[in-house]
This record gives sequence, C-alpha cells and structure tokens, in this order.
Amino acid sequence: MNKEKFTVIGAGLTGPLLATYLAQRGYSVEVFERRPDMRKESISAGRSINLALSARGNHALKEVGLYDKIKAITIPMKGRMIHDLNGSTHLQPYGQKENEVIFSVSRAQLNMELMTLAEETGNVNIRFNHHLLSADLDQNKLMFQSYDSLEEIELSFNRVIGCDGSASILRKSIVEKANAQYVKKPLGHGYKELTIPPRYSGKFQIEPNALHIWPRGNHMLIALPNNDYSFTCTLFFPMMGPTSFKTVKTKKNILDLFQSQFPDVIKLMPNLVEDFQKNPTGDLASVYCKPWHLGGKALLIGDAAHAVVPFFGQGMNASFQDCSTLANLMGQNENDWETIFKDFSSTQVENGHAIANMAIENYLEMRDHVNDPEYKKRRNVELKLERMFPGQFIPRYSMVSFHKIPYAEVYQQGEKQFKIISDVLMADPSGQSIDKAMVEKMLS
Ligand code: FAD
Repeated sequence: MNKEKFTVIGAGLTGPLLATYLAQRGYSVEVFERRPDMRKESISAGRSINLALSARGNHALKEVGLYDKIKAITIPMKGRMIHDLNGSTHLQPYGQKENEVIFSVSRAQLNMELMTLAEETGNVNIRFNHHLLSADLDQNKLMFQSYDSLEEIELSFNRVIGCDGSASILRKSIVEKANAQYVKKPLGHGYKELTIPPRYSGKFQIEPNALHIWPRGNHMLIALPNNDYSFTCTLFFPMMGPTSFKTVKTKKNILDLFQSQFPDVIKLMPNLVEDFQKNPTGDLASVYCKPWHLGGKALLIGDAAHAVVPFFGQGMNASFQDCSTLANLMGQNENDWETIFKDFSSTQVENGHAIANMAIENYLEMRDHVNDPEYKKRRNVELKLERMFPGQFIPRYSMVSFHKIPYAEVYQQGEKQFKIISDVLMADPSGQSIDKAMVEKMLS
C-alpha cells in the first residue's frame, strides 16, 4: 500500500471518480464535500437532474468497474426529437450506426454510485459537511467550515486536487500563486428545470428514446427521459432583456410565454407555473484557466478547471475523461507528481478550451439552426461523406460523443470538414453529387 495521501475537494461527479482511480492505485484519499451525504439525507443534487452520458464518460466508468451498474439505469437517446411551433415533430438521429446513441442518467444516482464505489475501495474517506473556505498553498494548509461542529478547522495537506466545481475555491489560490490566466465568460443565458410527469397510466407522455428540443431562435426548451417515466425539461433563456428570466415572473407572463413558444408543452406540464416560480434560475458560464496546477502540490480537474456550457452534453464526460487521462499519466510517471500534473495540465488545457468553445457553438445549432434548410443540407452532405470515407470523415458531433479523440483535435478536424462541406456545396448546391477526388485531396 502506497502511503502517499491525497486531499480531494468536492464529492460531486468528478471527486469520487478521481478518488477511485487514486485508491485503485493504492493511494489513500480524503475527500471533503460541503453538502451532506445525499445517500442519507434527501437533498437536491443541484442543477440538471439528469445528464447525457456518452463515450468519454462510459470509458472512464468501464476503467473503474462501474459501467455495467450505471448502464442498467440509463435510457438510450437515439437523436434529437425536434418540436416545431405547429406541434409537428421529427427525429434527427445522432449517428448512422446502431450504437451511436447517448444515454440519459440520473445525476443523483450516478453521484451516489460513484461515492459508494470510492468508499468500497477501502482507501477513500469522504468527509461531508466540510466547506473549503481558503487554501494556503505556501504553508500547505486548508481552512474549512464544518457544518457539523459549526467551527472553522485548519488541516494540512500533502497534495490537493480541486474537484470543487465551476466556482472552485482552490482555483482562486492556484490562479494567484501560479500567476495563471483565468477568465469566466458568462453566457448571458441561464436555465430553469421543469418537469413532464408520467401519464396517469404510468407511461412516458412523449417518446422516451430521444432528447427532445423545442428550438425557438434565441431560446429553447429541452427534455431528457427519466426511469420513473417523467422527463426533466430545461428552459434555456436570456437572463436579462425585455423577454427574459428577469421579466417572466407572473402566472400570466409564464403562460403567455409557453402559449406563444411551446403551446404543445402546456398540456404535458400540469405544474408548469408552480415549477417555474419555485425552481431556481441557474446561470451559465465558461471557465478558461491555464495552467491547472501548481508544481506537484495542487491541481484542478473537472468543472473547477474547465466549466463549459451544457449544450454538447460534455461537461461531465470531459471531467471523466480528465480522470482517465490523469490515471494514465500516473502509470507513465510513477510518483513524479510535478511531471504528472504538468503533463496533465499542458495536454488537457487546450482540450478544455476546445470543448468550451464547441459547447457555445452547439447552443446556436440547437436553439436556432436545427430547422434551417441550409443546416439540414449540410448535415446530409456530412452523413454522405461519412459513408463515402468511413473512419476518415467523422461528423463533429460523432467525434465528440462517440469517440475519445482529444477535443482540440476534434475542433481542428471539424474546421477542416466544415470547409469540405462548403466546397462540396459550392460545386453542387443541391449536395446530390460529390467530387470524391476533391474530397480525398482535402482530407489528406
Ligand atoms: P460539480 O458537479 O459542480 O461538483 C462539485 C462538488 O464540489 C459539489 O458536490 C459541491 O458541493 C462541492 N463543492 C463546491 N465548492 C466546495 C467547497 N468550497 N468546499 C467543499 N465542497 C465544495 N455534462 C454532461 O456531460 N452531460 C450533460 O448532459 C450535462 N448537462 C448539464 C446540464 C446543466 C443544466 C448543467 C449546469 C451542467 C450539465 N453538465 C452536463 C455538466 C456537468 O454537470 C458538470 O460538468 C459536472 O457536474 C462536473 O462535475 P464536477 O464534480 O467537476 O463539479
């Protein structure tokens, strides 16, 4: 048993997974989490109630041995079910292969399973109700507020890893001490969760094997299925402005908004007004930070390092891939933490920035472009090119969701492919014929 001890801040999705990777390699890990233990007390797991899990996340779950258990509680989603204003719907598949689906999973269930898995290693101790207040990276001291004793507690650490999410306290200290570049860019749009309950007969009210989208230009509603036959819906909407979360408040405002934008949804949501008024409005921002480490002493991972807006369904998947990448580096540089942290930061920072940018671009695609004839034409060409050049031309959505290709590479490849599609359409605006030799040359 390796005696080295790690301190991990945060037992959200990333913290317990990372703790498991460390524990499985013989390290002992103490995790500090500000919330109580959600396995014992009923608390909101916060933010979106379900999440889309895809290849990168699944890969990490396989590595730590949790995949089969989680797979059993997921619901596959084959594509985007687009809901037009007139109530008509059509499915836009995510991929062309049978296994190219993403999976809806309960955030709380996944979080609880990850915590239990970490504890079952025997090397992880999760201390709940401990809120990190500050970190002194010169003296290796962490200051916590204990919600049990109501006292402030100072603790020493050997190596500390921040999995404390987008508002990370550890990041503040790393940014100061490492003189890191840091910017948090608000999206200007926020979100609110609403619910489509099951039918009275205990079945889904709408198609379960799809991610539903009501795209409406500068805002949208989405819905992901849950195992209890309900859907968690999320309204993405401007935070400020004439029609925004700031102005839509009263029952009349809410019903007017839904009547004009989502008329087919009103009958599916009996508690619409109550939920809208009761549920909090979440803010959305992207975090860009570089580097993510301070020597071999402190490191950021997950949302603490790279919070991204949720439109590619990748925040958690990227965070899980971080853990897998870090574990790989541990294998390559046994106990040389300066090198491990440095290499991790230098490879992953650009991937974090790439997925942050792609996620913002995907918001425009989801809320605005999916019904645009030009978008549909480009998508058709993209799928044709994938069939013509298997393994060589992979649509960007597929590279992100069904592969583990580093995001920065996906971004570059996506730019190149965007140009190829433009050139194909320039040569034949109908997109019917494709000059294979021209594409081959551009791909090489
Ligand atoms: P978090 O989940 O934020 O966990 C941080 C943990 O640290 C929490 O438990 C918190 O209580 C604790 N903590 C924070 N500060 C302190 C402190 N000072 N002291 C002690 N503990 C602290 N990703 C996907 O892959 N697919 C999706 O479909 C998807 N949908 C999303 C929808 C929405 C609306 C949002 C907002 C995000 C979505 N994400 C999605 C992103 C995903 O939620 C995050 O990427 C993921 O939760 C990151 O995990 P984390 O553990 O790094 O951070």
